Amino acid sequence: MAKVEPRPTWQPRPDELLRNVPQKNGTCLMYVGGSWVEASDGGRRELRNPANGEVIARVAEGTAQDAERAIQAAHEAFYEGPWGDSLAQDRAKLLFRLADRIDEHATELSRLETLNNGKPLRETEFDMADAANCFRYYAGLATKPHGQTFEVPAPSQTFVVREPIGVCGQIIPWNYPLLMAAWKLAPALAAGNTCVLKPSELTPLTALRLATWIDELEFPKGVVNIVLGAGPVVGHTIAASHMVDKVAFTGGTKTGRSIMQAAVGNLKKISLELGGKSPNIIFADADFETAVDYALFGIFANAGQVCSAGSRLLVQESIADRLVPAIIERAKKIRVGDGFDPQTEMGPIISRAHLEKVEGYIRSGVEEGARLACGGTRLSGELGERGNFLVPTIFTETKPEMKIVREEIFGPVLVVQTFKDEQEAVRLANDTIYGLAGGVFTNDVAKAHRVIRKLRAGITWINTYHPTYNEAPWGGYKQSGMGRELGTYGYEAYTEVKQINVNLAVQPSGWFSA
Ligand code: NAD
Repeated sequence: MAKVEPRPTWQPRPDELLRNVPQKNGTCLMYVGGSWVEASDGGRRELRNPANGEVIARVAEGTAQDAERAIQAAHEAFYEGPWGDSLAQDRAKLLFRLADRIDEHATELSRLETLNNGKPLRETEFDMADAANCFRYYAGLATKPHGQTFEVPAPSQTFVVREPIGVCGQIIPWNYPLLMAAWKLAPALAAGNTCVLKPSELTPLTALRLATWIDELEFPKGVVNIVLGAGPVVGHTIAASHMVDKVAFTGGTKTGRSIMQAAVGNLKKISLELGGKSPNIIFADADFETAVDYALFGIFANAGQVCSAGSRLLVQESIADRLVPAIIERAKKIRVGDGFDPQTEMGPIISRAHLEKVEGYIRSGVEEGARLACGGTRLSGELGERGNFLVPTIFTETKPEMKIVREEIFGPVLVVQTFKDEQEAVRLANDTIYGLAGGVFTNDVAKAHRVIRKLRAGITWINTYHPTYNEAPWGGYKQSGMGRELGTYGYEAYTEVKQINVNLAVQPSGWFSA
């Protein structure tokens, strides 16, 4: 009989982590109209742990009809239910409580996220805290002053109020499952909208757990709906529905385009947070160790599956011979493994299909003549056979026209470009259809600011990479998206602006003589 290896002590049992997610006949249910429901046709989907290929859960696979049911519930909750007229202070109270629930269950949640997404526990622990703080930030913002008043030619008083848009369809990716749900739900609910959230079909588990507290805290029925299923079915139904007033999407640029097309029927409001190919620029006068450290963090955090990843490293020629080898040496030492293993620094790629896509880019880099300076292979051994692991990969001697330089890879693959001077750095940095993020490393403060101001990107960093704050707007220039999330910008994106004019001298105008 084959020897069965015991589970390592750090590896949890999936059924234990799933025990708080409502299920029927072994299938996790969706949350629609305040009830836990199966798919209308009984369909379900298997979820696999990206670290070992194990089936960890079966979840309802929603249909177009399920999406319509969720939209109907959100519509009734907004237009007929109490939510449309709710007080900001009551919404804030609910959101504060939801944030507390996340904090109270942070360990359970981060383990569930690691099980489903694969990223190391230290990353999911950070994400859970961030998600709680996002709900807290918008809970606070709900009761702060919004709107304007004007001095207009008398006798009139004019003021502007912000009102919720209505039913918001929200479609999110798999790379930060709960955090992306928080970025969408928190501002929308704070502003008084109702929501139909569609998590990625690969990573719905933490959003379902979140819904258990939404239910427990008695958000009115239909205010939050979590509907699961395939993008082209459930996502498309949400984007196309005439009963949805706004669609907010985070995901790939190609999908963003199809969302925009689907949304055109009722001219619904659109927010898009899309892909990137962000430059991380290192000048010769940068602090060497800091630059090396953030070059690695910029691309290998979350195994490079980050929209704002510093996936193009632009290095000044004069230090390239010293800096690039230092980065390569450190990259080789990154400990790749199961996210539950306390030793792990970089987890797996989300799925076999995505792993193969990233490998396709690596092949294309080699074929186009770039030098594969490290990595490019799957992890060896049993872990590598069962899980979707790629080792940190770096290409040097690249050319701007190469596919690996132009396209978003969304994996642990760094491409190095070199530049002579500031002008060339800026030109190369902006030579992309994207404009999400970018970083600059230099000890020359004036140069740092000059370069940052020239970057055509929405999120930028000087002498750091990746920090993201709930207070500051998130979004991209060019084909990286439309609109902003987070901060007051993110709140405003979930509001309509209404001007109210009051005649203070109530008498006929006398415009017509008869
Ligand atoms: P994706 O575009 O494949 O999917 C995102 C979501 O859209 C999923 O829920 C999916 O089911 C849904 N979807 C797919 N096709 C659809 C359709 N035709 N109509 C409606 N919905 C549809 O992206 P992904 O692979 O899940 O995530 C990776 C992408 O997300 C990367 O390009 C990354 O850059 C981007 N991303 C951007 C940000 C940002 O803030 N700018 C953040 C995270 C991820």
